[in-house]
Amino acid sequence: MSWKADLQLTDQMEGLYQQAFAQGYLRPSLLEDNEVHLLYDHHYDLHFTYQISYARAGYQSSPSALPAGAQCAICREQAGSPGKEQLQLLDLTLEDGSEHFLQLTPFPLYPRHYVLISREHRRMQVDRTMVAQGLQFLDRAPEYTVCSNSDLPWAGASILSHSHFQVFCKLNLPVMNCRRLFTLYEDAQISITTRHYRMPVISLIGNDRTRVASEAARIIRSWKARYPQRATVNMVMSKSSGTYTLLLILRHADHRNPEHLMRFKSEGIGVIEAAGSWVFPPASRELLQELHANSRSIIKELTAAISPFDPAVREHFDVLHHY
Ligand SMILES: [Zn+2]
Repeated sequence: MSWKADLQLTDQMEGLYQQAFAQGYLRPSLLEDNEVHLLYDHHYDLHFTYQISYARAGYQSSPSALPAGAQCAICREQAGSPGKEQLQLLDLTLEDGSEHFLQLTPFPLYPRHYVLISREHRRMQVDRTMVAQGLQFLDRAPEYTVCSNSDLPWAGASILSHSHFQVFCKLNLPVMNCRRLFTLYEDAQISITTRHYRMPVISLIGNDRTRVASEAARIIRSWKARYPQRATVNMVMSKSSGTYTLLLILRHADHRNPEHLMRFKSEGIGVIEAAGSWVFPPASRELLQELHANSRSIIKELTAAISPFDPAVREHFDVLHHY
């Protein structure tokens, strides 16, 4: 079976984006003011990035009042409520019949930063269904990169109470460029390898969407079973020339920001950062100077702290015992 891109959907998404600027929901400065820095790392042969995100200066993790019917900050009922009059939604039904909607985040990290949200307010649950839905979205919008935070606090999570993906147009995250390291399994349909990266990353590459989803689900189940209620994954999905690439970044809730770096980064470390593109909040001139002067070591230390094990050791991946 072949899956065709849905030009109507991607046109509608672009329309939503243009309209957001026309109506003042987004301003160019939200994106232009974000300072993005490149850090080349010879060992991994990758350009990591970090940005000081001024857009997120207004970010509130726990909004004070919810409009009628809404149970969280990303529920559908938020659109049109006081303070969110300009928030526009795009409804979408995926191939499995699940209902979702797209909206633009008011705190964009990059241009065309959408959130794909389940219509029903239900908890984040990183599992086969979620993997399959991310891949189904990619079929409709193959030029997008689909990212997912996790379902456990302090393990790469954002809003836990409501299932969602973060979706970016053509975003190329550092983790997507790192080379393969250990082959865990390979056949004609699928290649499952680890990546040469600072965190444990399992890469699944294949043309068969169902197979990719089922193998990913097995790995996620194994990892979660090893450390119940502590282990989970962040996901990065992309599609090119009919081939899916799904990256599972292993996360563990006990591996979090070290105390002495909390002054640079106190919020949880999400999928985009685990993927190699760090986001720091605006800070005093002194603190920013210190951050810029030591960015390489700070990012290295933060990544090591959230990494559940050393990914350079093949045996460590045995916890995913199917392989
Ligand atoms: Zn909700």
